Amino acid sequence: MKQPGDSDIFTCRMCGKCCHGYGGTYVDERETAAICEYLGIGREDFEKRYTAPSGGRRVLAQKADGYCVFFDEKCSIHPVKPAMCRQWPYLRAVLVDPGNWLAMAASCPGMDPDAPRGKIVREVEKRLKQAAEDTFSFDRSGPGR
Ligand code: SF4
Ligand code: SF4
Repeated sequence: MKQPGDSDIFTCRMCGKCCHGYGGTYVDERETAAICEYLGIGREDFEKRYTAPSGGRRVLAQKADGYCVFFDEKCSIHPVKPAMCRQWPYLRAVLVDPGNWLAMAASCPGMDPDAPRGKIVREVEKRLKQAAEDTFSFDRSGPGR
């Protein structure tokens, strides 16, 4: 079944690979607050148990099996998962360097690695515009993201 986040250049395969490996999933202040509220814990506790430092910022930690600390066959914080997870693969990084699409596609079988650059840029711009207008309601929630 087609997901709201699917497009001509991306179809989520529901494989969960995007929740495995070092993904550098950043959590900003607002996301941290939302996750803390969802889990019913304090910020300090959240940072200690669920995040790791990366380049001066906090990223979600990984479990020993390499999966995101919140992955348990599916995302356990789905309603409040970080923007990076909700917006994947339509990330600003792709506009900064469309070559990032190919790099990301190496770990996400849902992305078309052969998609033309122009098409990639147009789709990502469109999705980010929707996000800015707060109509970014697609929820490509495969087993993970
Ligand atoms: S977004 Fe995640 S679950 Fe969907 S195809 Fe890509 S790696 Fe698999
Ligand atoms: S979708 Fe959920 S489990 Fe997957 S990386 Fe994001 S927060 Fe972690």
